[in-house]
Amino acid sequence: MQYISTRGNEVAVSSAEAIKQGIAPDGGLYVPTDEVSISNIDLEKLTSLSYTERAAFILQHFLTDFTPSEIDQCVNAAYHPNKFATPEIAPVKAFTSDTSILELWHGPTCAFKDMALQILPQFLVRALAKTGEKAEIVILVATSGDTGKAALEGFANIPGTRIIVFYPEQGVSEVQKLQMTTQEGKNVHVVAVQGNFDDAQSGVKQVFGDGEFAQLLANQGFRLSSANSINWGRLVPQIIYYFSAYADLLKTGTIRAGERINFVVPTGNFGNILAGFYAKKMGLPVNKLICAANANNVLTDFIQTGTYNRNREFLKTLSPSMDILISSNLERLLYELTNRQGEQVSHWMTQLKTAGSYTVDTNTFAKVQEHFWSDFADDQETLQTIEETWHKQRYLLDTHTAVAVRVLHKYRQATDDNTYTVVASTASPFKFNGSVAKAVLGEDQVTGRNEFSLLQDLSTFTQWPIPQGLRDLDKKPVLHRQVIEKDKLKDAVKDILLG
Ligand SMILES: *Cc1c(COP(=O)(O)O)cnc(C)c1O
Repeated sequence: MQYISTRGNEVAVSSAEAIKQGIAPDGGLYVPTDEVSISNIDLEKLTSLSYTERAAFILQHFLTDFTPSEIDQCVNAAYHPNKFATPEIAPVKAFTSDTSILELWHGPTCAFKDMALQILPQFLVRALAKTGEKAEIVILVATSGDTGKAALEGFANIPGTRIIVFYPEQGVSEVQKLQMTTQEGKNVHVVAVQGNFDDAQSGVKQVFGDGEFAQLLANQGFRLSSANSINWGRLVPQIIYYFSAYADLLKTGTIRAGERINFVVPTGNFGNILAGFYAKKMGLPVNKLICAANANNVLTDFIQTGTYNRNREFLKTLSPSMDILISSNLERLLYELTNRQGEQVSHWMTQLKTAGSYTVDTNTFAKVQEHFWSDFADDQETLQTIEETWHKQRYLLDTHTAVAVRVLHKYRQATDDNTYTVVASTASPFKFNGSVAKAVLGEDQVTGRNEFSLLQDLSTFTQWPIPQGLRDLDKKPVLHRQVIEKDKLKDAVKDILLG
């Protein structure tokens, strides 16, 4: 299996090379050249396997330049009982008679990013060896909150790598900020940017696109790479849990072999749901992929109209990890849906960059609508959904998952489709405890309290334990205090690496 750029201007590379580079030299994203298909017989076989075995089975189709034993080492190191709070790794929990919840937040940082970022460093270390890389790899990360910590946790003290994380100074929760600024490790750097996530992401993309700077770094023995979901090594581990969820539902007899199901996914950068699309392309019986957005509903508009328009106000919501106006991974979808028209994709991406918007042709739009449906939920609906779900079902949703549950409700009302549906749950409710406590305990119980006392309040109220990764955060020393202006990312990288 080889990988090519969505902009169509590069030669095909191995998976090790694609993972090492992160983004293709022409600014495009790497995608696999060949189709992978998983049969219904294989699906049945997955039911009797553990999560790590399922992971190895899926990955071997994509990482063909890795040996089976290397893949085993990667999955065993990543999905290890020391790292994940449950041996099922990504358990499926019954929710209502026609809905289950796929909990993707039992990893060390309590958000779904761990599913990919625990294994990406494992891939990368082996990719460096395979490609004979001599340079030290510098991972640049722009984060809306969750990726940063998950990447730090994955890359801390990994030999041959350094990691620099940029987060929007005002765009993350207190817990998220402390998770990052207290990170230990010889090779980690955390920098606050005075701007929003899109500023941080654009800044990082600019640094990646700067050939002269890359040369300067290369002369000093550094090579940049990405742990954002533009890296194929981030995308591919996410395909696993779509298959795993299906296998679990088959195993419990909740669905019949071959039965199509829906997935609803709280979406920001379009990475999670895109992995669902790849799973569908590989033959997983999926009916609709329901894209749930918050008030930054640029994707909802796109899926409903075929026009992507980022010319709108950036809103700060209670689901900050979805506060994004430029969803990078949509580029991969467009590439696949246009039957790999790199030139066409390139053209749309240029329009997005220069005019802030583009409209896809009718053919492509029809395909978008064939696979996807979308709506959004605002903050008030989010809180109401958390409250209602707790009172009706004694299940505590985080703000992102609540957006998904609300949008699923809208989908069922709008379509009368009662296909069995899996909700991708992307964060522990304790990670966004301020909003969650407000929803279930009431505004007056929350006012004036800090996030750490609220963790305890929530735990006492629900009898759910506080996850390990969030305990005692406020007692750890803050190790990273640098703050920069939003157009100074390159200078910061230079200072950190070259002094
Ligand atoms: C990152 C994140 C999302 C959005 O996922 P994308 O892959 O960017 O669409 C949703 N919820 C949580 C909690 C996240 O951390």
